[in-house]
Amino acid sequence: MLIETFPVGPLGCNCSILVDPATRSAVVIDPGGDFEAIQGKLERAGATVASIVHTHTHIDHVGATAPLARWSGAPARIHEADRFLYELLPVQAALIGVDLPEVCEVEGDLVDDAAVTAGGIELQVLHTPGHTPGSLSFVLRTPEGPVAFTGDTLFRRGIGRTDLWGGDSQAIFLSLRRKLMTLDDATRVVTGHGPGTTIGEERRANPFLRRG
Ligand SMILES: [Zn+2]
Ligand SMILES: [Zn+2]
Repeated sequence: MLIETFPVGPLGCNCSILVDPATRSAVVIDPGGDFEAIQGKLERAGATVASIVHTHTHIDHVGATAPLARWSGAPARIHEADRFLYELLPVQAALIGVDLPEVCEVEGDLVDDAAVTAGGIELQVLHTPGHTPGSLSFVLRTPEGPVAFTGDTLFRRGIGRTDLWGGDSQAIFLSLRRKLMTLDDATRVVTGHGPGTTIGEERRANPFLRRG
């Protein structure tokens, strides 16, 4: 399994490309910007995109979604509870001071415990609301152990902000405790921005997850 994660767009959103080596079928997580860079990596891997999925629809995570969907023909998929944020992209663009990205049809079909498949790839969908109402995490089982893509819900030594549209601090703590912190300590974590970590490391050292 090829897993490549790289920062895209002005806010450095981590975009991940997963490619099944046998079928060259691929999933793209959070194409937040820099469409040409994403396209180039997919072309070099000989990959065909089966699904474009989003941990949430803040503007920095969807900047290259429309051109990628048009070029690849793959569906752009979100949790339905984040659709209002996709419709608020002009407001998000004005607030952050970035250009308004092109938009496309998005399917709100990613629900808790669904599976996203592409060849031999199977991503388990976890609904982890709080940073946004439709925030998702994705868990990939690999021979080297599980990998969780947590978007802006869990960072290395931090958690996502909950002061933006639909943010809910109680909900994010429940998502962390009931969903992400039930994963094995060895689970590698690809975060929405910045360095990766593991579930075990955050369980021990993340100041937002220590109780008391
Ligand atoms: Zn966000
Ligand atoms: Zn973000």
